[in-house]
Amino acid sequence: MTRLTRRHVTLGLFATAAVAAAGGAGLALAPSDRAVIVGAGPAGAEAALALRAAHPALRVTLLERDPTRLARESDTAAAAFTAPRTAATLAGLQAQGIEVMLDDVTDVDWTAGRLALFSGRDAAFDRLYLAPGTSARAEAIAGLDAEARYAMPAAWGNPREARRLAAQLAALPEAGHVVLRLPADLSHPQVALTRALMLSRHLAATRPAARLTVLDATPTPALAQSFAMAKRLQGIAAQVRWITAAEGATVRAVEARAGRIDTDAGRLSADVINFVPPHQAGAIAQAAGLVDGSGWCPCDARGRSMLRSEAVVLGDARKGAARTLAGARLSVTAATKAQA
Ligand SMILES: Cc1cc2nc3c(=O)[nH]c(=O)nc-3n(C[C@H](O)[C@H](O)[C@H](O)COP(=O)(O)OP(=O)(O)OC[C@H]3O[C@@H](n4cnc5c(N)ncnc54)[C@H](O)[C@@H]3O)c2cc1C
Repeated sequence: MTRLTRRHVTLGLFATAAVAAAGGAGLALAPSDRAVIVGAGPAGAEAALALRAAHPALRVTLLERDPTRLARESDTAAAAFTAPRTAATLAGLQAQGIEVMLDDVTDVDWTAGRLALFSGRDAAFDRLYLAPGTSARAEAIAGLDAEARYAMPAAWGNPREARRLAAQLAALPEAGHVVLRLPADLSHPQVALTRALMLSRHLAATRPAARLTVLDATPTPALAQSFAMAKRLQGIAAQVRWITAAEGATVRAVEARAGRIDTDAGRLSADVINFVPPHQAGAIAQAAGLVDGSGWCPCDARGRSMLRSEAVVLGDARKGAARTLAGARLSVTAATKAQA
């Protein structure tokens, strides 16, 4: 049976608010236009609802490559390591008259107004909204190959990796060692803080003799300070060592099979390594020519791309985005209001 979580309720309330905002403003799009949205995360799905509600005659198509993003959350241990989904379901979106296509957008032809899809199909658009989230960026670290990334799951938006990390933690020895690696160019600082606290709580509750080391290569001690304060306030008794960039948190090499990480602070051996890579805007934003040298999409406050004015970018892919649900919500509200 479907269980309505607090997260779903919150997202549902948000969608209603966004719809009301956009509906009040009206849209500058022609009634027969086809608005296509790439990505059915919180930003894309809720933008589809807002556009649809504000302009009922508009054809709204939502493209998503991962069908699980529109399914209900399951109650597994891995849920703690997955990114939140939209409250909208496939059936709910379709009931609003939104066409949902399950496919991977591989390219954008701006001149013809067409998207190339992995299945071989294509999709025409008059207005394109991109909400592709983020994708991992490759790093030049010795030993960090596909096998290493499998053995040291990031669990940063990938449900399979979340399940693997949860399984590894379940098998942790009583006095085991867990390492959380955070890159210098960290995409979601708030999520990293939550992850460190979650791992600490997990160890305190299930393996009091185990310990956590956080390799935090971010340039300031801000995260370390926030963590120390939250750990104290929440009374988490776990053994945690937080190594900052200044203390040598930068990773130089990994030997995943042996559970070894070489850092500027020396060699660490661990039973479980949650290895978070740097991220950038989702790959389709790159293919569409919307990404600058930072790896993110520069946009104005309303999401209009500074590299291609006919494109609107929503959610995490935007340069300087907060990369939280609240940030995604704000981007939808600003973009849909901008259609007035
Ligand atoms: C592990 C984790 C936990 C988090 N927990 C929280 C939290 O508790 N609270 C909070 O506020 N924020 C949290 N966040 C951040 C929050 O999830 C994001 O800010 C939010 O999901 C951004 O929404 P989005 O729609 O921009 O991107 P996403 O949610 O990433 O959605 C992007 C969607 O686009 C699809 N897509 C990408 N490329 C294509 C393509 N080419 N073709 C078709 N589809 C495509 C993807 O499959 C995906 O479904 C978390 C993030 C992570 C990674």
